[in-house]
Amino acid sequence: MLKRAFSSLILAEHNNTKLAGSVYSAVNAADYFNEETTVLVAGENCSSAAQEASKIKGVTKVLHYDNPVLKDHMADVMTQTLQAAQSQYRYKRIIGATSQFSRDIIPRLGGVLNVQPITDITRIMNEKCFKRPGYAGNAIYTVTTHQNFNLLTIRATSFDRNPSIKNPCTIERIDLNVQFRPVMTWVSQNLEVNERPELGTAKIIVTGGRGLKSKENWHVVEELAAKLGAGVGASRAAVDAGFCSNDLQIGQTGKIVAPSLYIACGVSGAIQHIAGMKDSKVIVAINTDPEAPIFSVADYGLVGDLFKAVPEMIQKL
Ligand code: FAD
Repeated sequence: MLKRAFSSLILAEHNNTKLAGSVYSAVNAADYFNEETTVLVAGENCSSAAQEASKIKGVTKVLHYDNPVLKDHMADVMTQTLQAAQSQYRYKRIIGATSQFSRDIIPRLGGVLNVQPITDITRIMNEKCFKRPGYAGNAIYTVTTHQNFNLLTIRATSFDRNPSIKNPCTIERIDLNVQFRPVMTWVSQNLEVNERPELGTAKIIVTGGRGLKSKENWHVVEELAAKLGAGVGASRAAVDAGFCSNDLQIGQTGKIVAPSLYIACGVSGAIQHIAGMKDSKVIVAINTDPEAPIFSVADYGLVGDLFKAVPEMIQKL
């Protein structure tokens, strides 16, 4: 048995071909520990994702585990994979990026390994001490752990993305001693086709709220986003009203984003929304209500009708 008691294992999220951008941030977080950083790329026919991982700066080794049972990365079999990897290699910590993917796996792993996960870390103070937000970002906890082995998830927007380098590290094709007992079955997926940049990586995001008033008006934010090469986001009220698909939702129960420029159109700025976008570098708000809470986090605020302001912006751009 190999002992890697001074190293981090990163759980890579990928689609068997390409890594999620958050993996680059997880490696950046692992750099903090100044120890070996191994990335586990587990899936089916996922060698291109493994190759991509081997070129991330800071990665010292990639474990590539290919098994048809992992094709859809279901949480039950992924948990068993991680459990087997941990029992075989004994890492000091396993790190994932906060996402639907890791939210489904890391707590299960915590259950089977009897370890308390520390999730949504925004800052690493030292090896045993972390900052994480609570109450929709209105409180910041300082969490100290006495566990010798830790399960961590990091908030990708709070960490830089490590760049790719030319010289790849070693990729070790591994076999794990695991008898899979799948309890979940992948039925189907219905993916929304979105031509705009993905919210997690977009440098500019234009978000629409209930102020858009109807689905028919949603094109107003789409057009501004198209002009700016931006991603399109939405408040929960806009999603619930059916103006757009729910994968656009930003906030506490949606996506956490931190683009260079965030333009909120007809969004009031409820704390649950602000929790998902307040780390944006520059925030612009357009709202008819001068008392709207969004103005308290905005760098630039325009009190006015979005149906007048946004077409004017599009025209000027
Ligand atoms: P509203 O609050 O109705 O605001 C609409 C705004 O548009 C108003 O400020 C109004 O002045 C303005 N407006 C109207 N007409 C115009 C116009 N012509 N031009 C310009 N401005 C105009 N919300 C999220 O967004 N994300 C989340 O992840 C989320 N999670 C939640 C989790 C929980 C547990 C709960 C309880 C709530 C959550 N919410 C979330 C909902 C949240 O509390 C708000 O209800 C929601 O964010 C409001 O969306 P909104 O700002 O679009 O709508």
